Amino acid sequence: MDYLKSLNEPQYEGAVNTEGPTMIIAGAGSGKTRVLTYRIAYLIEKKGVDPFNILALTFTNKAAKEMRDRIEKVVGTEARNLWMGTFHSVFARILRAEADKLGYPSNFTIYDTDDSKQLIKSIVKELGLDDKIYKPNVVFNRISGAKNRLISWREYINNPIFRADDESNMKPELGKIYKIYSERCFKAGAMDFDDLLFNTNVLFKQHIDVLNKYQQRFHYVMVDEFQDTNISQYLITKKLSAVRQNICVVGDDAQSIYAFRGADIQNILNFEKDYPDLRVIKLEQNYRSTKTIVNAANAIISKNRAQLKKNVWTDNDEGSLIELLKANSDNEEGKLVASSIFEEKMQNQLQNSDFAILYRTNSQSRAIEEALRRMNIKYKIVGGLSFYQRKEIKDLMAYLRFAINHNDEQSLRRIINYPKRGIGDTSVDKIIVAANDHDISLWEVLTNISSFLPGRAANAVMDFVTLIKRFKHDIETKDAYEAANLIAKGSGILKELYEDKTVEGLSRYENVQELLNAVKEYVDDPEKEDKSLGAFLQEIALITGVDNDKDDGEEKVTLMTIHMAKGLEFKNVYIVGLEEDLFPSQMMLSSRADLEEERRLFYVAVTRAERKLFLSYALSRYRFGRLKNCEPSRFIDEIDPMFIKVSKKYGKVESSGLSGDDYAKNFINGMRKTTTSRPVAKTSTYKPSADFEPSDTSGLQAGMKVEHPKFGYGMVTEMDESGANRKAKVHFDDFGEKTLLLSFAKLKIH
Ligand code: ATP
Ligand code: MG
Repeated sequence: MDYLKSLNEPQYEGAVNTEGPTMIIAGAGSGKTRVLTYRIAYLIEKKGVDPFNILALTFTNKAAKEMRDRIEKVVGTEARNLWMGTFHSVFARILRAEADKLGYPSNFTIYDTDDSKQLIKSIVKELGLDDKIYKPNVVFNRISGAKNRLISWREYINNPIFRADDESNMKPELGKIYKIYSERCFKAGAMDFDDLLFNTNVLFKQHIDVLNKYQQRFHYVMVDEFQDTNISQYLITKKLSAVRQNICVVGDDAQSIYAFRGADIQNILNFEKDYPDLRVIKLEQNYRSTKTIVNAANAIISKNRAQLKKNVWTDNDEGSLIELLKANSDNEEGKLVASSIFEEKMQNQLQNSDFAILYRTNSQSRAIEEALRRMNIKYKIVGGLSFYQRKEIKDLMAYLRFAINHNDEQSLRRIINYPKRGIGDTSVDKIIVAANDHDISLWEVLTNISSFLPGRAANAVMDFVTLIKRFKHDIETKDAYEAANLIAKGSGILKELYEDKTVEGLSRYENVQELLNAVKEYVDDPEKEDKSLGAFLQEIALITGVDNDKDDGEEKVTLMTIHMAKGLEFKNVYIVGLEEDLFPSQMMLSSRADLEEERRLFYVAVTRAERKLFLSYALSRYRFGRLKNCEPSRFIDEIDPMFIKVSKKYGKVESSGLSGDDYAKNFINGMRKTTTSRPVAKTSTYKPSADFEPSDTSGLQAGMKVEHPKFGYGMVTEMDESGANRKAKVHFDDFGEKTLLLSFAKLKIH
């Protein structure tokens, strides 16, 4: 039994003492996940437990897969029979089997967050409430919060405390929305993510026989990352293991980073109360990281008051000092990180996948992504979209693009009714069809909209046209940054996002600000000759033209927020943007508890590194359109200077021997070649003659033969004579029947 030999003594204790309640609360990298993995292998292999009787809950599906793969190496394909996965995936499976007990069909739908928000939106509308007050995001989070604390809509409505709270927040109808939302989900045979946990609790509470069945099934229950479970999850595991008491939870209070989603560190403390016979195992030896990293991490977390005392140490090498990269700007930070990765790869024979770049908020990825692309270093963004793929960025870019090119169909589709201005999809389709049928530009259709759409829809389009004209004027008269800013405001995007005070809303707002910052940096860059908005957009289009986001098994640098990095490890880790107000985040800092959560996040980030850790910050960063001087994060000061060396590259970007710009040039040239060789769809053999001249169509009649510059030859089949909107139905040889508005159509009568 080789695998057991690879455990130290307390780890071994944790793996083989399978009976009774066990809790392992230990520092990062001390082998908690490894103990769980081998405990399961041991149960199957040594104790002959059927994998069907083992339940193991992980925080991500990826973690479950990794664990299963490792167990499979020991016990073979039997490992596939384990009940293993995230809380949501495991209990969705159980709910499917038991759905009828709750009145649900077994093929119930699972609504994702977007579905839920759409539903909330329509309910708010039906109730005649103001959707600026009852923002879908805000309502959704309130409902989600209630469900995660196991508060049903009935309890919510009947609880005077919630009502008073909602009234003081000017949202007295929240309870009613919660009720209708739940009823509608139920009627639609749908559960949202929170329902998966909420309804499992209901199921176990109302149907003792069902609970009993699963208590009999799961002889052993295990939970990884226990510190981040919420009360709803906690109760499920407690109920399931109530009979046999074979529950083992592992976690690290120092890595609790989901309080904002209802994770409760209390669960760890309750656990000791709930199980008086609890076996507590401490793991103190870290196997992941160098001495330098472990000691630095210990120093960081010791600043938190609300932490259980632990003594984490390692036998690993001293390792390199932590490298501090100071940059003058966020763009330079990106370049420093990219060239450092390049050098590290060369010097230490590392691969892209040995590197991770971690940041506090998603918007920070922009400067990093650009630098990596320029250096031709492949990367992937885990758990998020790359900056320019994000919806809010695409939306604003579409406005900018459309204000410059009024005929950009894709952009028009994105923005014509976002933010909402009462122009439905059918109207948009009609506009696009009209432009194609009459062979006139989209803009011509838009500016003559009353010929194509009825009254109300036409009015809304006219307002939109006025808006775009104003934006065009802004672009022609102001500098690119000012114009982009006016467009972000004038379009209503900024306001829409600003009013959404949820965590995701804030992050979307920050992303839009970050795009504006990128324009500002572009304008301020002395090397850029053409400072127009058009030139900026073109540059971005070229940088982002590559599909860098698919995970196609290639070696890639991992970029992600620290929240996503929990449980993972990489040889080299870069933590970027270590500046006051960014990390610790100003938005999250209103109490000591908040600061301590930020510090735990920093601890999680630092402890992902195996051999080398890099910390970086910029002395200035564009935030909210202004170049802001930044101060290094207090977290840097909290590490003893003896562990840190300041990189020599301070203040200038070292050339790594290969110029990033040369890479970029080759790369763009390569792309151009491929775009020009793309085959063009062939639909007709018709070619308009060089001297094509449209005729006067006032005398056009059915039966006449006509020529159209796009559709070729055809015959008029019908005329619709109604004043300014005179139309002709024409049957074209190659394109079939089209209805043309004669004031626009270019027709030659033969
Ligand atoms: P985290 O708190 O970050 O989730 P963890 O406590 O779950 O960390 P693991 O991921 O299980 O730690 O282990 C960290 C690393 O140390 C892994 O690469 C693991 O394989 C290795 N490791 C753990 N225990 C031992 C051991 N006894 N001998 C050798 N390597 C070990
Ligand atoms: Mg782990």
